[in-house]
Amino acid sequence: METYALLGDEALALGAVHAGLSSAYGYPGTPSTEIMEYLQSVNKKEGKPLAKWCSNEKTAYEEALGASFYGKRTLVTMKHVGLNVAADAFVNSALLDIRGGLVLAVADDPGMHSSQNEQDSRYYADFAHIPCFEPVNQQQAYDVMFEAFELSEKLNVPVMIRLVTRLSHSRASITVKKSIPENKGVKAPDVKQWMLLPALARKQWHQLLDKEKEMKTYSESSEWNHLIFNESDTGVITSGLGRNYFLENADDFKTKYNHLHIGFYPPPAEKIIKLAEKCKTLIFLEEGEPLIERMVRGILPGNIILKGKLSGHVSREGELNPDSIRKVLDLAPKKLIDFSAGEIPGRPPQLCKGCPHDDTYRFIKDVVAGLSESAVMSDIGCYALGALPPLQVPETIVCMGASITMAKGAAEAGMKNVMAVIGDSTFFHSGLTGLVDCVSENASVTILILDNSTVGMTGGQNTILPSQRIKLISEGIGVHPHHIHVVDAHRKNHDNNMKILKKELEYEGVSVIISVRECIEYFRKKNKESKEETCS
Ligand code: SF4
Repeated sequence: METYALLGDEALALGAVHAGLSSAYGYPGTPSTEIMEYLQSVNKKEGKPLAKWCSNEKTAYEEALGASFYGKRTLVTMKHVGLNVAADAFVNSALLDIRGGLVLAVADDPGMHSSQNEQDSRYYADFAHIPCFEPVNQQQAYDVMFEAFELSEKLNVPVMIRLVTRLSHSRASITVKKSIPENKGVKAPDVKQWMLLPALARKQWHQLLDKEKEMKTYSESSEWNHLIFNESDTGVITSGLGRNYFLENADDFKTKYNHLHIGFYPPPAEKIIKLAEKCKTLIFLEEGEPLIERMVRGILPGNIILKGKLSGHVSREGELNPDSIRKVLDLAPKKLIDFSAGEIPGRPPQLCKGCPHDDTYRFIKDVVAGLSESAVMSDIGCYALGALPPLQVPETIVCMGASITMAKGAAEAGMKNVMAVIGDSTFFHSGLTGLVDCVSENASVTILILDNSTVGMTGGQNTILPSQRIKLISEGIGVHPHHIHVVDAHRKNHDNNMKILKKELEYEGVSVIISVRECIEYFRKKNKESKEETCS
Protein backbone atom coordinates (compact mmCIF):
# COMPACT_ATOMS: atom_id res chain seq x y z
CA MET A 1 0.00 0.00 0.00
CA GLU A 2 1.42 3.36 -1.01
CA THR A 3 1.28 6.22 1.49
CA TYR A 4 1.62 9.96 0.94
CA ALA A 5 1.95 12.91 3.32
CA LEU A 6 -0.56 15.42 1.99
CA LEU A 7 -2.50 18.54 2.88
CA GLY A 8 -6.24 17.99 3.18
CA ASP A 9 -6.71 19.81 -0.14
CA GLU A 10 -4.07 17.65 -1.81
CA ALA A 11 -5.52 14.43 -0.38
CA LEU A 12 -8.90 15.34 -1.84
CA ALA A 13 -7.30 16.11 -5.21
CA LEU A 14 -5.42 12.80 -5.28
CA GLY A 15 -8.59 10.96 -4.23
CA ALA A 16 -10.38 12.58 -7.17
CA VAL A 17 -7.64 11.48 -9.59
CA HIS A 18 -7.74 7.90 -8.29
CA ALA A 19 -11.55 7.91 -8.40
CA GLY A 20 -11.58 8.50 -12.17
CA LEU A 21 -11.61 12.30 -12.41
CA SER A 22 -11.52 13.61 -15.98
CA SER A 23 -11.99 17.37 -15.59
CA ALA A 24 -11.64 19.93 -12.81
CA TYR A 25 -12.55 23.61 -12.84
CA GLY A 26 -12.21 26.24 -10.16
CA TYR A 27 -11.36 29.74 -9.05
CA PRO A 28 -8.53 30.30 -6.55
CA GLY A 29 -9.54 31.21 -3.02
CA THR A 30 -7.97 30.42 0.33
CA PRO A 31 -8.26 27.71 1.69
CA SER A 32 -9.31 25.78 -1.44
CA THR A 33 -6.55 26.81 -3.89
CA GLU A 34 -4.23 23.85 -3.29
CA ILE A 35 -6.78 21.36 -4.66
CA MET A 36 -6.44 22.72 -8.20
CA GLU A 37 -2.72 23.37 -7.83
CA TYR A 38 -2.20 19.69 -6.95
CA LEU A 39 -4.33 18.57 -9.90
CA GLN A 40 -2.34 20.84 -12.20
CA SER A 41 0.88 19.30 -10.93
CA VAL A 42 -0.53 15.83 -11.70
CA ASN A 43 -1.55 17.06 -15.15
CA LYS A 44 1.95 18.38 -15.75
CA LYS A 45 3.45 14.95 -15.03
CA GLU A 46 0.79 12.67 -16.50
CA GLY A 47 -1.03 14.82 -19.06
CA LYS A 48 -4.35 14.44 -17.19
CA PRO A 49 -6.80 15.17 -15.63
CA LEU A 50 -7.82 18.46 -17.21
CA ALA A 51 -7.41 21.04 -14.41
CA LYS A 52 -8.33 24.62 -15.22
CA TRP A 53 -8.70 27.91 -13.42
CA CYS A 54 -11.70 29.86 -14.71
CA SER A 55 -12.85 33.50 -14.74
CA ASN A 56 -14.97 32.98 -11.65
CA GLU A 57 -16.75 30.29 -9.64
CA LYS A 58 -19.92 30.47 -11.72
CA THR A 59 -18.12 29.87 -15.00
CA ALA A 60 -16.16 27.08 -13.30
CA TYR A 61 -19.35 25.39 -12.14
CA GLU A 62 -20.99 25.71 -15.57
CA GLU A 63 -17.92 24.35 -17.36
CA ALA A 64 -18.00 21.39 -14.99
CA LEU A 65 -21.68 20.89 -15.82
CA GLY A 66 -20.74 20.67 -19.49
CA ALA A 67 -18.17 17.94 -18.78
CA SER A 68 -20.67 16.07 -16.62
CA PHE A 69 -23.26 16.35 -19.44
CA TYR A 70 -20.76 14.38 -21.51
CA GLY A 71 -20.64 11.68 -18.80
CA LYS A 72 -17.22 12.53 -17.33
CA ARG A 73 -16.41 12.60 -13.63
CA THR A 74 -15.88 16.25 -12.82
CA LEU A 75 -14.75 18.28 -9.83
CA VAL A 76 -15.39 21.98 -9.11
CA THR A 77 -13.33 23.79 -6.46
CA MET A 78 -13.87 27.09 -4.69
CA LYS A 79 -13.91 28.77 -1.31
CA HIS A 80 -17.13 29.32 0.60
CA VAL A 81 -17.82 32.88 -0.59
CA GLY A 82 -17.14 31.71 -4.14
CA LEU A 83 -20.22 29.56 -3.82
CA ASN A 84 -22.27 32.75 -3.57
CA VAL A 85 -20.98 33.60 -7.04
CA ALA A 86 -21.71 30.10 -8.38
CA ALA A 87 -25.05 29.83 -6.57
CA ASP A 88 -27.26 30.29 -9.64
CA ALA A 89 -25.68 27.42 -11.54
CA PHE A 90 -25.21 25.33 -8.39
CA VAL A 91 -28.78 25.47 -7.09
CA ASN A 92 -30.28 24.84 -10.53
CA SER A 93 -27.92 21.94 -11.21
CA ALA A 94 -29.63 19.90 -8.48
CA LEU A 95 -32.58 19.48 -10.88
CA LEU A 96 -30.47 18.05 -13.70
CA ASP A 97 -29.97 14.40 -14.50
CA ILE A 98 -26.29 14.14 -13.56
CA ARG A 99 -24.67 11.05 -15.15
CA GLY A 100 -20.98 11.86 -15.06
CA GLY A 101 -20.32 12.28 -11.33
CA LEU A 102 -20.23 15.98 -10.39
CA VAL A 103 -18.59 16.89 -7.10
CA LEU A 104 -18.24 20.37 -5.64
CA ALA A 105 -15.38 20.72 -3.14
CA VAL A 106 -15.94 23.90 -1.18
CA ALA A 107 -13.61 25.07 1.57
CA ASP A 108 -15.07 27.11 4.41
CA ASP A 109 -13.03 29.42 6.59
CA PRO A 110 -14.35 29.47 10.17
CA GLY A 111 -12.33 32.05 12.06
CA MET A 112 -12.00 34.14 8.86
CA HIS A 113 -8.27 33.52 8.45
CA SER A 114 -8.49 34.82 4.92
CA SER A 115 -12.12 35.66 4.20
CA GLN A 116 -14.77 38.27 4.69
CA ASN A 117 -17.26 36.03 6.49
CA GLU A 118 -17.74 32.64 8.20
CA GLN A 119 -20.63 31.32 6.10
CA ASP A 120 -21.25 27.60 6.35
CA SER A 121 -21.62 25.85 2.99
CA ARG A 122 -23.68 23.01 4.48
CA TYR A 123 -26.62 25.42 4.30
CA TYR A 124 -26.17 25.63 0.55
CA ALA A 125 -26.28 21.83 0.22
CA ASP A 126 -29.46 21.79 2.29
CA PHE A 127 -30.94 24.67 0.28
CA ALA A 128 -30.19 22.96 -3.05
CA HIS A 129 -31.40 19.56 -1.71
CA ILE A 130 -28.17 17.74 -2.48
CA PRO A 131 -26.01 15.44 -0.34
CA CYS A 132 -22.96 16.75 1.47
CA PHE A 133 -19.96 14.93 2.96
CA GLU A 134 -17.78 16.46 5.63
CA PRO A 135 -14.38 14.72 6.04
CA VAL A 136 -12.55 15.11 9.37
CA ASN A 137 -9.04 14.12 8.34
CA GLN A 138 -6.80 13.78 5.31
CA GLN A 139 -7.57 10.07 4.84
CA GLN A 140 -11.29 10.82 4.72
CA ALA A 141 -10.63 13.74 2.34
CA TYR A 142 -8.98 11.20 0.01
CA ASP A 143 -11.51 8.38 0.48
CA VAL A 144 -14.58 10.58 0.15
CA MET A 145 -13.98 11.27 -3.53
CA PHE A 146 -14.70 7.64 -4.46
CA GLU A 147 -18.00 7.61 -2.59
CA ALA A 148 -18.99 11.11 -3.69
CA PHE A 149 -18.61 10.30 -7.40
CA GLU A 150 -20.46 6.99 -6.95
CA LEU A 151 -23.31 8.66 -5.09
CA SER A 152 -23.56 11.47 -7.63
CA GLU A 153 -23.93 8.90 -10.42
CA LYS A 154 -26.30 6.71 -8.37
CA LEU A 155 -28.72 9.49 -7.41
CA ASN A 156 -27.94 11.62 -10.50
CA VAL A 157 -27.34 14.77 -8.44
CA PRO A 158 -24.29 16.92 -7.72
CA VAL A 159 -22.59 16.14 -4.40
CA MET A 160 -20.87 18.64 -2.12
CA ILE A 161 -17.77 18.03 -0.02
CA ARG A 162 -17.27 20.61 2.70
CA LEU A 163 -13.73 21.25 3.92
CA VAL A 164 -12.52 23.79 6.47
CA THR A 165 -9.22 25.67 6.73
CA ARG A 166 -7.68 23.46 9.44
CA LEU A 167 -8.19 20.36 7.33
CA SER A 168 -7.37 21.95 3.96
CA HIS A 169 -4.08 23.32 5.23
CA SER A 170 -2.80 20.60 7.58
CA ARG A 171 -0.72 17.65 6.45
CA ALA A 172 -0.99 13.97 7.40
CA SER A 173 -0.18 10.59 5.97
CA ILE A 174 -2.77 8.83 3.82
CA THR A 175 -2.95 5.38 2.25
CA VAL A 176 -4.16 5.24 -1.33
CA LYS A 177 -6.54 2.83 -3.06
CA LYS A 178 -6.54 1.19 -6.47
CA SER A 179 -7.37 3.72 -9.20
CA ILE A 180 -10.64 3.63 -11.11
CA PRO A 181 -10.54 4.26 -14.87
CA GLU A 182 -12.21 7.38 -16.28
CA ASN A 183 -15.78 7.25 -17.60
CA LYS A 184 -16.19 7.03 -21.36
CA GLY A 185 -17.57 10.23 -22.91
CA VAL A 186 -21.27 9.65 -23.49
CA LYS A 187 -23.83 12.42 -23.91
CA ALA A 188 -26.61 12.58 -21.29
CA PRO A 189 -29.24 10.03 -22.41
CA ASP A 190 -32.25 12.32 -22.00
CA VAL A 191 -31.48 15.93 -22.87
CA LYS A 192 -34.93 17.01 -21.67
CA GLN A 193 -33.61 16.36 -18.17
CA TRP A 194 -31.07 19.09 -18.80
CA MET A 195 -33.55 21.75 -19.87
CA LEU A 196 -34.92 23.80 -17.02
CA LEU A 197 -37.96 25.12 -18.87
CA PRO A 198 -40.84 25.52 -16.42
CA ALA A 199 -42.93 22.59 -17.69
CA LEU A 200 -39.91 20.27 -17.58
CA ALA A 201 -38.39 21.77 -14.44
CA ARG A 202 -41.59 21.05 -12.47
CA LYS A 203 -41.10 17.34 -13.16
CA GLN A 204 -37.43 17.54 -12.27
CA TRP A 205 -38.25 19.30 -9.00
CA HIS A 206 -40.62 16.44 -8.19
CA GLN A 207 -37.86 13.94 -9.01
CA LEU A 208 -35.41 15.81 -6.80
CA LEU A 209 -37.80 15.63 -3.85
CA ASP A 210 -38.08 11.87 -4.43
CA LYS A 211 -34.30 11.60 -4.52
CA GLU A 212 -34.19 13.42 -1.21
CA LYS A 213 -35.94 10.42 0.36
CA GLU A 214 -33.13 8.20 -1.00
CA MET A 215 -30.56 10.60 0.42
CA LYS A 216 -32.19 10.31 3.84
CA THR A 217 -32.15 6.50 3.65
CA TYR A 218 -28.50 6.62 2.61
CA SER A 219 -27.75 8.91 5.51
CA GLU A 220 -29.28 6.53 8.08
CA SER A 221 -27.10 3.60 6.98
CA SER A 222 -23.96 5.57 6.16
CA GLU A 223 -20.79 4.92 8.18
CA TRP A 224 -20.19 8.67 7.90
CA ASN A 225 -22.93 9.03 10.50
CA HIS A 226 -21.62 6.95 13.37
CA LEU A 227 -23.58 6.39 16.58
CA ILE A 228 -21.99 4.95 19.73
CA PHE A 229 -23.89 4.33 22.98
CA ASN A 230 -22.24 4.47 26.39
CA GLU A 231 -23.48 4.53 29.99
CA SER A 232 -24.40 8.21 30.10
CA ASP A 233 -27.57 10.23 29.95
CA THR A 234 -25.80 12.88 27.88
CA GLY A 235 -25.29 12.63 24.13
CA VAL A 236 -22.83 14.59 22.04
CA ILE A 237 -23.46 15.28 18.36
CA THR A 238 -20.34 16.31 16.49
CA SER A 239 -19.79 17.40 12.93
CA GLY A 240 -16.62 18.16 11.01
CA LEU A 241 -13.56 18.89 13.12
CA GLY A 242 -15.79 19.17 16.21
CA ARG A 243 -15.37 15.37 16.40
CA ASN A 244 -11.56 15.63 16.63
CA TYR A 245 -11.69 18.26 19.39
CA PHE A 246 -14.26 16.19 21.28
CA LEU A 247 -12.12 13.04 21.09
CA GLU A 248 -9.00 14.95 22.14
CA ASN A 249 -10.72 15.48 25.51
CA ALA A 250 -11.93 11.87 25.83
CA ASP A 251 -9.32 10.83 28.43
CA ASP A 252 -10.72 13.41 30.85
CA PHE A 253 -14.37 12.30 30.71
CA LYS A 254 -15.78 11.01 34.01
CA THR A 255 -18.31 8.89 32.11
CA LYS A 256 -18.14 8.25 28.42
CA TYR A 257 -20.74 10.20 26.50
CA ASN A 258 -23.09 8.74 23.92
CA HIS A 259 -21.77 10.06 20.64
CA LEU A 260 -23.23 10.60 17.19
CA HIS A 261 -20.83 11.92 14.60
CA ILE A 262 -22.48 13.34 11.48
CA GLY A 263 -20.27 13.42 8.38
CA PHE A 264 -23.01 13.07 5.76
CA TYR A 265 -26.04 15.29 5.12
CA PRO A 266 -29.02 15.35 5.12
CA PRO A 267 -28.54 14.44 8.80
CA PRO A 268 -29.79 11.01 9.93
CA ALA A 269 -33.05 11.92 11.73
CA GLU A 270 -33.68 8.36 12.99
CA LYS A 271 -30.21 8.09 14.53
CA ILE A 272 -30.68 11.49 16.18
CA ILE A 273 -34.03 10.39 17.65
CA LYS A 274 -32.52 7.09 18.82
CA LEU A 275 -29.75 9.00 20.59
CA ALA A 276 -32.21 11.48 22.08
CA GLU A 277 -34.32 8.65 23.53
CA LYS A 278 -31.35 7.67 25.74
CA CYS A 279 -30.44 11.20 26.78
CA LYS A 280 -31.57 14.01 29.04
CA THR A 281 -29.07 16.41 27.50
CA LEU A 282 -27.69 16.76 23.98
CA ILE A 283 -24.54 18.74 23.27
CA PHE A 284 -23.74 20.00 19.75
CA LEU A 285 -20.18 20.55 18.60
CA GLU A 286 -20.37 21.86 15.05
CA GLU A 287 -17.59 23.62 13.17
CA GLY A 288 -19.44 26.55 11.63
CA GLU A 289 -23.09 27.44 12.03
CA PRO A 290 -25.48 25.53 14.35
CA LEU A 291 -27.06 23.75 11.38
CA ILE A 292 -27.76 20.40 13.04
CA GLU A 293 -28.73 22.03 16.33
CA ARG A 294 -31.29 24.11 14.50
CA MET A 295 -32.62 21.16 12.50
CA VAL A 296 -33.14 18.87 15.50
CA ARG A 297 -35.15 21.42 17.45
CA GLY A 298 -38.11 20.55 15.26
CA ILE A 299 -37.94 16.77 15.78
CA LEU A 300 -37.01 16.27 19.44
CA PRO A 301 -39.28 16.29 22.49
CA GLY A 302 -39.24 19.58 24.40
CA ASN A 303 -37.95 18.07 27.68
CA ILE A 304 -34.43 17.44 26.34
CA ILE A 305 -31.82 20.03 27.28
CA LEU A 306 -29.99 21.18 24.15
CA LYS A 307 -26.58 22.77 24.58
CA GLY A 308 -24.86 24.26 21.59
CA LYS A 309 -24.33 27.48 19.74
CA LEU A 310 -28.00 28.48 19.74
CA SER A 311 -28.27 28.04 23.48
CA GLY A 312 -25.08 30.04 24.06
CA HIS A 313 -23.11 27.11 25.53
CA VAL A 314 -20.69 27.06 22.57
CA SER A 315 -19.28 30.19 20.95
CA ARG A 316 -20.86 31.11 17.62
CA GLU A 317 -17.74 32.95 16.49
CA GLY A 318 -14.56 31.53 15.07
CA GLU A 319 -13.27 27.97 15.10
CA LEU A 320 -13.82 25.38 17.78
CA ASN A 321 -10.77 23.95 19.52
CA PRO A 322 -10.18 21.28 22.20
CA ASP A 323 -10.05 23.89 24.99
CA SER A 324 -13.05 25.99 23.97
CA ILE A 325 -15.42 23.01 24.23
CA ARG A 326 -14.32 21.75 27.67
CA LYS A 327 -16.84 23.80 29.61
CA VAL A 328 -19.88 22.45 27.76
CA LEU A 329 -18.47 18.93 28.26
CA ASP A 330 -18.41 19.58 32.01
CA LEU A 331 -14.61 19.57 32.16
CA ALA A 332 -12.37 21.97 34.06
CA PRO A 333 -10.28 24.25 31.85
CA LYS A 334 -6.83 22.95 31.06
CA LYS A 335 -3.88 24.81 32.49
CA LEU A 336 -2.66 26.87 29.58
CA ILE A 337 0.76 28.35 29.06
CA ASP A 338 0.78 31.90 30.41
CA PHE A 339 2.00 34.28 27.72
CA SER A 340 1.09 37.43 29.62
CA ALA A 341 4.66 37.98 30.86
CA GLY A 342 6.03 38.68 27.40
CA GLU A 343 4.40 41.17 25.05
CA ILE A 344 3.84 39.53 21.67
CA PRO A 345 3.72 42.31 19.11
CA GLY A 346 0.67 42.31 16.84
CA ARG A 347 1.50 41.44 13.23
CA PRO A 348 -1.35 42.69 11.05
CA PRO A 349 -1.15 41.54 7.41
CA GLN A 350 0.60 43.96 5.11
CA LEU A 351 1.46 44.43 1.46
CA CYS A 352 4.82 42.79 0.66
CA LYS A 353 7.87 45.02 0.59
CA GLY A 354 8.12 46.44 -2.92
CA CYS A 355 4.48 45.64 -3.77
CA PRO A 356 3.28 47.68 -6.78
CA HIS A 357 -0.02 48.42 -5.01
CA ASP A 358 1.85 50.46 -2.44
CA ASP A 359 2.90 52.96 -5.12
CA THR A 360 -0.58 53.11 -6.62
CA TYR A 361 -2.13 53.80 -3.23
CA ARG A 362 0.42 56.50 -2.48
CA PHE A 363 -0.59 58.55 -5.53
CA ILE A 364 -4.30 57.96 -4.82
CA LYS A 365 -3.78 59.00 -1.19
CA ASP A 366 -2.06 62.22 -2.18
CA VAL A 367 -4.86 63.08 -4.62
CA VAL A 368 -7.55 62.29 -2.03
CA ALA A 369 -5.80 64.57 0.50
CA GLY A 370 -6.54 67.57 -1.74
CA LEU A 371 -10.25 66.81 -2.24
CA SER A 372 -13.14 68.02 -0.10
CA GLU A 373 -15.22 64.91 -0.89
CA SER A 374 -14.17 61.54 -2.25
CA ALA A 375 -14.66 57.81 -1.89
CA VAL A 376 -12.32 54.91 -2.66
CA MET A 377 -14.18 51.63 -3.05
CA SER A 378 -11.88 48.60 -2.95
CA ASP A 379 -12.38 45.07 -4.18
CA ILE A 380 -11.10 41.71 -2.92
CA GLY A 381 -7.42 40.99 -3.41
CA CYS A 382 -4.00 41.86 -1.98
CA TYR A 383 -4.79 45.54 -2.56
CA ALA A 384 -7.53 45.34 0.11
CA LEU A 385 -4.61 45.39 2.58
CA GLY A 386 -4.20 49.04 1.61
CA ALA A 387 -7.14 49.72 3.94
CA LEU A 388 -4.85 49.00 6.92
CA PRO A 389 -2.13 51.31 8.28
CA PRO A 390 0.02 52.85 7.03
CA LEU A 391 -1.89 53.45 3.76
CA GLN A 392 -5.55 53.40 4.85
CA VAL A 393 -6.87 54.35 1.42
CA PRO A 394 -9.85 52.03 0.62
CA GLU A 395 -13.07 52.81 2.46
CA THR A 396 -15.23 49.86 1.42
CA ILE A 397 -14.51 46.15 0.85
CA VAL A 398 -17.56 43.95 0.34
CA CYS A 399 -17.31 41.23 -2.30
CA MET A 400 -15.77 40.40 -5.66
CA GLY A 401 -16.65 43.09 -8.21
CA ALA A 402 -18.43 45.40 -5.76
CA SER A 403 -15.85 48.19 -6.04
CA ILE A 404 -17.02 49.28 -9.49
CA THR A 405 -20.75 48.84 -8.92
CA MET A 406 -20.68 50.49 -5.49
CA ALA A 407 -18.74 53.39 -6.98
CA LYS A 408 -21.45 53.75 -9.63
CA GLY A 409 -24.18 53.72 -6.97
CA ALA A 410 -22.41 56.34 -4.87
CA ALA A 411 -21.73 58.56 -7.90
CA GLU A 412 -25.37 58.31 -8.99
CA ALA A 413 -26.41 59.23 -5.46
CA GLY A 414 -24.53 62.50 -5.93
CA MET A 415 -21.14 61.78 -4.41
CA LYS A 416 -18.16 63.50 -6.00
CA ASN A 417 -14.75 62.02 -6.84
CA VAL A 418 -15.70 58.38 -6.61
CA MET A 419 -12.98 55.83 -7.34
CA ALA A 420 -13.04 52.04 -7.62
CA VAL A 421 -9.88 50.01 -7.04
CA ILE A 422 -9.87 46.51 -8.50
CA GLY A 423 -7.18 43.98 -9.45
CA ASP A 424 -6.73 42.57 -12.94
CA SER A 425 -7.92 39.11 -11.95
CA THR A 426 -10.91 40.42 -9.98
CA PHE A 427 -11.76 42.60 -12.97
CA PHE A 428 -12.04 39.47 -15.12
CA HIS A 429 -13.87 37.64 -12.28
CA SER A 430 -16.71 40.09 -11.84
CA GLY A 431 -15.63 43.63 -12.65
CA LEU A 432 -16.52 43.42 -16.34
CA THR A 433 -20.28 43.51 -15.85
CA GLY A 434 -19.96 46.46 -13.45
CA LEU A 435 -18.01 48.33 -16.12
CA VAL A 436 -20.79 47.59 -18.61
CA ASP A 437 -23.29 49.16 -16.17
CA CYS A 438 -21.07 52.23 -15.72
CA VAL A 439 -20.68 52.74 -19.48
CA SER A 440 -24.38 52.22 -20.15
CA GLU A 441 -25.20 55.14 -17.82
CA ASN A 442 -22.00 57.13 -18.38
CA ALA A 443 -21.52 57.15 -14.60
CA SER A 444 -18.98 59.57 -13.14
CA VAL A 445 -16.55 57.00 -11.79
CA THR A 446 -12.82 56.57 -12.06
CA ILE A 447 -11.84 52.91 -12.08
CA LEU A 448 -8.27 52.06 -11.16
CA ILE A 449 -7.40 48.56 -12.36
CA LEU A 450 -4.32 47.39 -10.51
CA ASP A 451 -2.60 45.14 -13.01
CA ASN A 452 0.06 43.03 -11.27
CA SER A 453 -0.19 40.27 -13.94
CA THR A 454 -1.28 37.58 -11.50
CA VAL A 455 -3.74 36.43 -8.87
CA GLY A 456 -1.46 37.63 -6.08
CA MET A 457 -3.49 36.94 -2.94
CA THR A 458 -3.78 33.19 -3.52
CA GLY A 459 -0.15 32.55 -4.36
CA GLY A 460 0.38 33.75 -7.93
CA GLN A 461 -1.90 31.88 -10.32
CA ASN A 462 -2.01 33.11 -13.92
CA THR A 463 -4.61 35.74 -14.72
CA ILE A 464 -7.30 34.20 -16.93
CA LEU A 465 -6.39 36.43 -19.91
CA PRO A 466 -3.21 38.45 -20.46
CA SER A 467 -3.82 41.63 -18.52
CA GLN A 468 -2.61 43.73 -21.50
CA ARG A 469 -6.08 43.09 -22.94
CA ILE A 470 -7.78 45.17 -20.24
CA LYS A 471 -7.23 48.37 -22.24
CA LEU A 472 -8.78 46.85 -25.38
CA ILE A 473 -11.64 45.36 -23.37
CA SER A 474 -12.39 48.72 -21.73
CA GLU A 475 -12.42 50.36 -25.15
CA GLY A 476 -14.58 47.58 -26.54
CA ILE A 477 -17.12 48.02 -23.77
CA GLY A 478 -17.29 51.70 -24.64
CA VAL A 479 -14.99 53.70 -22.37
CA HIS A 480 -13.75 56.65 -24.44
CA PRO A 481 -10.11 56.01 -25.45
CA HIS A 482 -9.13 59.50 -24.16
CA HIS A 483 -10.19 58.38 -20.70
CA ILE A 484 -8.25 55.14 -20.60
CA HIS A 485 -4.70 55.43 -19.30
CA VAL A 486 -2.02 52.85 -18.74
CA VAL A 487 0.36 54.09 -16.04
CA ASP A 488 3.50 52.64 -14.53
CA ALA A 489 2.92 51.94 -10.84
CA HIS A 490 6.30 53.10 -9.70
CA ARG A 491 7.36 55.80 -7.28
CA LYS A 492 9.31 57.69 -9.93
CA ASN A 493 5.98 58.32 -11.76
CA HIS A 494 4.15 59.46 -8.64
CA ASP A 495 3.56 63.07 -9.72
CA ASN A 496 2.54 62.19 -13.25
CA ASN A 497 0.13 59.50 -12.00
CA MET A 498 -1.38 62.01 -9.58
CA LYS A 499 -1.90 64.45 -12.45
CA ILE A 500 -3.71 61.83 -14.54
CA LEU A 501 -5.96 60.79 -11.65
CA LYS A 502 -6.85 64.40 -10.78
CA LYS A 503 -7.74 65.11 -14.41
CA GLU A 504 -9.94 62.05 -14.70
CA LEU A 505 -11.76 62.82 -11.47
CA GLU A 506 -12.83 66.09 -13.08
CA TYR A 507 -14.31 64.20 -16.05
CA GLU A 508 -18.04 63.52 -15.80
CA GLY A 509 -18.04 60.03 -17.22
CA VAL A 510 -16.26 56.68 -16.96
CA SER A 511 -12.47 56.70 -16.76
CA VAL A 512 -10.18 53.69 -16.52
CA ILE A 513 -6.64 53.99 -15.20
CA ILE A 514 -4.69 50.74 -15.51
CA SER A 515 -1.85 50.89 -13.04
CA VAL A 516 0.73 48.32 -14.16
CA ARG A 517 3.65 46.65 -12.40
CA GLU A 518 4.28 42.97 -11.80
CA CYS A 519 3.69 41.48 -8.34
CA ILE A 520 7.07 41.12 -6.73
CA GLU A 521 6.22 37.69 -5.29
CA TYR A 522 5.03 36.44 -8.69
CA PHE A 523 8.23 37.69 -10.24
CA ARG A 524 10.24 35.72 -7.65
CA LYS A 525 8.09 32.61 -8.12
CA LYS A 526 8.54 32.69 -11.91
CA ASN A 527 12.32 33.13 -11.54
CA LYS A 528 12.51 30.21 -9.11
CA GLU A 529 10.48 27.95 -11.41
CA SER A 530 12.55 28.80 -14.46
CA LYS A 531 15.77 28.13 -12.48
CA GLU A 532 14.37 24.75 -11.33
CA GLU A 533 13.42 23.87 -14.90
CA THR A 534 16.92 24.76 -16.11
CA CYS A 535 18.49 22.57 -13.39
CA SER A 536 16.27 19.52 -14.00
S1 SF4 B 1 1.69 39.04 -3.29
FE1 SF4 B 1 2.21 40.55 -4.86
S2 SF4 B 1 0.43 41.83 -5.09
FE2 SF4 B 1 0.19 40.70 -3.18
S3 SF4 B 1 1.01 42.04 -1.58
FE3 SF4 B 1 2.70 40.75 -2.25
S4 SF4 B 1 3.72 41.89 -3.90
FE4 SF4 B 1 1.71 42.81 -3.58
